[in-house]
Amino acid sequence: MSTDRGEIETPIFMPVGTKAAVKTLSPADLNDTGTQIILGNTYHLYLRPGQELIHDFGGIHKFMNWNKPVLTDSGGYQVFSLKDFRKIDEQGVSFQSHLDGSRHRFTPASVLDIQRSLGSDIMMVLDECAPYPSEREYALKSNELTLKWAREAREIYEDWSPLYGFRQQLFGIVQGSTFKDLRENSAAELIKMDFPGYAVGGLAVGEPKEIMYEITDFCTDILPVEKPRYLMGVGMPEDIIESIDRGIDMFDCVIPTRNARNGTIFSRNGKMVLKSARFREDQKPIDGECSCYTCRNFSRGYIRHLYNTNEMLGLRLATIHNVHFYLWLVQQARKNILNDTFADWKQKILSEITSTITE
Ligand SMILES: [Zn+2]
Repeated sequence: MSTDRGEIETPIFMPVGTKAAVKTLSPADLNDTGTQIILGNTYHLYLRPGQELIHDFGGIHKFMNWNKPVLTDSGGYQVFSLKDFRKIDEQGVSFQSHLDGSRHRFTPASVLDIQRSLGSDIMMVLDECAPYPSEREYALKSNELTLKWAREAREIYEDWSPLYGFRQQLFGIVQGSTFKDLRENSAAELIKMDFPGYAVGGLAVGEPKEIMYEITDFCTDILPVEKPRYLMGVGMPEDIIESIDRGIDMFDCVIPTRNARNGTIFSRNGKMVLKSARFREDQKPIDGECSCYTCRNFSRGYIRHLYNTNEMLGLRLATIHNVHFYLWLVQQARKNILNDTFADWKQKILSEITSTITE
């Protein structure tokens, strides 16, 4: 993928920097982990610090001192999660802030305007993410609304002029819950609108994994191969491998960062709960073959001690490793795709990463 802030090698994982920071990591840490693009959340940034302030700073890249690409979501997902505090109509969604209860409104046009102020390299259209499970009738209506909003966004994007001199791409989002005919209709209509890239939304919202894989597979069969295909909010390392196999190019998820802060570590040898007492005297690195800053310099026993004593360094070291591991994983996937060895590699890596390390 190419953006004005650099090429992105796919498949790629995007660490989540909800409030213009990937929790505990500096931009230098992110660069060290191999991060090529991060995600920012429009809803959170719109509420705090607000679009005007970020505009005054010259956009999100200057604000947070990150000069590689940024993707921002539309804010829709967070707003729809507010359940009792939002009201949808044909033109948009009105909601109350989770911070202070103040009233706000998002429309297809307003979320694009916010993302213009943020200056993200990839923007997302406003969509409604139907919950799981959804009645067919609900999913159908929701899908029609999402398509209507996508058309409005696409029309505005026709005469787009970015604020800071860097091109901004706009992605459409395929919805339709677990109904294949709705997914097909959603994808077909979005393709007609000719977006620079397409996301598959409304998955990883509580449905069984088999359904998630099946719908992903179904959508990537329809969406054009020559454009980026982004599976929103996924997932565990094994989900990422399975979805790459089904044709997905881009991922974002809070799992590597959130789990690191909770003491769960991913590695090529499996998962480990580093807080566990069994690692108290363990002088080995998390993963002897990992080249991240944490594994090159620190032991499991030391990081466990940092968790135990609530030292912030522990959260940072664990996050560095987990993010590095996710980036390593997608890099390996890419290498094996290019070598035409993906199928064999997939089988081997899945059995390794899904085991649990106990010693
Ligand atoms: Zn490591």
